[in-house]
Amino acid sequence: MTADPRGPAPPPPHAGKEPPDAANPARAQDAGSVASPQASSRTSPPPPFPERWTAMLRRHGTPLHPTKVAALGARTAAMICDGRPGQAATALVAAHFTDPDLLVEAVELLRGAPSQEGDPAGAFAAAWAIALRERTLRQQETIRTAADVARREAEQALHASEARFRALFEHAAVGIGVGSVDGEILAANRSLLEMFGARLEDLRGRAVTDLVHPEDTPEIWHAYEDLIGGRRESFQCDKPYYRKDGQVVWTHLTVSLIRDEDGTPRYQVAMLEDITDRYRLQERLHHQATHDPLTGLPNRAAFFERLEELFAKAPPGAHFGLCYIDLDRFKIVNDSLGHATGDQLLVEVAGRLATALGPLGHTVARLGGDEFVVLLEHCGGEHDAVAAARTVLGALREPILIDGHKLAVGASVGVLERPVGTITPGAAVRAADLTLYRAKEAGGARWTLYDARTNAEAVSRYTVSVRMPMALDRGEFFLEYQPLCSLADGSLTAVEALVRWRHPLLGTLGPDEFVPAAEETGLILPLGRWILSQACAQGADWQRRYGQRAPQVNVNITARQARSKGLIADIGRILADTGLEPGLLQLEITESTALGPRDESLRVLNALVDRGITLAVDDFGTGWSNLAYLRDLPLSGLKLSSSFIAEPSAEPVPDSDVAWRIIGGLADLSRSLGLTLTAEGVETRETAERLRALGCDWGQGWHFGRPVTPEQLEELFLANPQKGTNSIKPS
Ligand code: C2E
Ligand code: MG
Ligand code: MG
Repeated sequence: MTADPRGPAPPPPHAGKEPPDAANPARAQDAGSVASPQASSRTSPPPPFPERWTAMLRRHGTPLHPTKVAALGARTAAMICDGRPGQAATALVAAHFTDPDLLVEAVELLRGAPSQEGDPAGAFAAAWAIALRERTLRQQETIRTAADVARREAEQALHASEARFRALFEHAAVGIGVGSVDGEILAANRSLLEMFGARLEDLRGRAVTDLVHPEDTPEIWHAYEDLIGGRRESFQCDKPYYRKDGQVVWTHLTVSLIRDEDGTPRYQVAMLEDITDRYRLQERLHHQATHDPLTGLPNRAAFFERLEELFAKAPPGAHFGLCYIDLDRFKIVNDSLGHATGDQLLVEVAGRLATALGPLGHTVARLGGDEFVVLLEHCGGEHDAVAAARTVLGALREPILIDGHKLAVGASVGVLERPVGTITPGAAVRAADLTLYRAKEAGGARWTLYDARTNAEAVSRYTVSVRMPMALDRGEFFLEYQPLCSLADGSLTAVEALVRWRHPLLGTLGPDEFVPAAEETGLILPLGRWILSQACAQGADWQRRYGQRAPQVNVNITARQARSKGLIADIGRILADTGLEPGLLQLEITESTALGPRDESLRVLNALVDRGITLAVDDFGTGWSNLAYLRDLPLSGLKLSSSFIAEPSAEPVPDSDVAWRIIGGLADLSRSLGLTLTAEGVETRETAERLRALGCDWGQGWHFGRPVTPEQLEELFLANPQKGTNSIKPS
């Protein structure tokens, strides 16, 4: 305690005595006297000892408040004056006055102090030294004790945490194994040993890589190599292990890398959760979801999954094969012998297919009903796919015996072989299915190979024909009109009505894209009726508005329309409804309609002509024509196919002179038969000129005008008749 609780000390008893520094004026000045040295030595006495003492303390002071320093100075000066310099030294050291310079100064001050018994300076110095040493010892002791306590506490904490971790390791519900980064198993906890049905000795020292299982994915072991190589910190996966008894345990595995302080990989810790039950359940559910319950074969979903996986993973350039199978007489069996027999038959067929094709590495799946599919994941070419189809037919050749019935089923197979990635899984199966139908159409019990062109036609026929019926109701069809002009003066003589379909998804479709399908499905009959009434109404409108200048309207008629009994009545009604003069309607029929089966269509055509309608043969020259028949038909015109006309701008036709001569011959023939000859596909003025010179009557083509709306056609030809007339100038 350095502060004096009594406040500033009273003047010491020796206050009036000779001052200790009388012999040393320089020191007196150092001690803080305000007077000059000369003046003080001569005029005023030096300050009393306690003041000089306190001044000395102030100079060497610790960060102590000045009043406290003053109190300490007074107290210790009093001790000195009382002959207790040792106590003063002890008090100063206790108050942290430990500066060695202070000791030197104090000793000098004490040496000058008067009437002191003994050696106060010596006693002060000795006591100072002792106090200082004791203080140092005390401090060291304190530090040592604190260090001891800290070490003991750290040891206890380490021990406790180790114990906790060991307990955690030993009693954890998950299996934990520790290995070195060299891949040696170092430790395994109880759960892990139980999971593996093994003892610690069975595992310790073994290589982690011994625990491989055939169902491990390569990724697992790549991740493992990366981990022990320090290139990744952890990985997770589901992995099977063999137990000691040979059984398989499925685990969810997490492996982490443990590094030491400088980052070097030291250990690997594996945590394994037994998921065997969950895995088996999942497997069962997956099997149920992906297999056909009747035959046990993979079902449609599994097959598509497989196909999609193949498409995603196959190397570039790989080919795959599909055999789409449909049993030939299954429906008869099902209907006549009952569903139970049908089911047995399907089971037997599935068994035969799996037995015949499974060993070849092909996947057999049941798509539903009596449809099966074989997938060749590695297909060396068409011959492989065809070989698989032959195997299918071979497997079903022997009749199947069920309940005493010998059932000969047989099958049709659509075979598709393609490079992976050139087709989507859905399109591949559809294509194989469409190919199958060709085998069926040909009588069944055979395979048919996919053909890109036939397939494209079938696909477009299908997509188009599915929507066509409603397209008519929804008003998606419309007509354009193309001019037919006189080659002599370029005037408009007729227009051809050409149908188009504004398809909501495919855009505007031309007739070549849907008329064949309409013809095939029979939809051409309602569509054709609509076209006729539409074109006739338009023709009647022009007839009313332009009188003599109104063009003849040409409408195309297909073979099916020409054969249909309703055509005569339809046209009669349409003409009556619209008021179009029959002579302004010309029907364009194809060569095959005109020259094909003569009976029915000829009767129809004659009946039409009797009503005053005219007929022309369209695309003349593209089919085989027995020219003699032309005489017998009630024809008014021939339309020469555009393929005849070798345009100067087109590729050089080898014998184009011959083509021109043929056209000239046909022109002569038409003239002698009294037919109007129209040339189609006239694209240039030169062609038009040459055709005119050869004796053709009319021309149709881009040179005269493209197919346009009725309004555009009116504007181009009818509103201003001069425009059209000047398009060619006869030479
Ligand atoms: P088409 O009766 O021979 O009709 C002429 C075709 O030639 C039209 O094609 C027309 O656009 C095209 N064309 C006209 N001038 C030229 C030319 O200078 N150069 C070239 N490269 N082509 C020209 P579109 O409209 O595509 O019709 C194709 C075929 O579809 C028609 O041939 C016709 O057979 C049939 N068709 C068109 N409309 C109908 C219809 O309403 N009913 C029926 N049944 N068939 C139709
Ligand atoms: Mg035509
Ligand atoms: Mg034509």
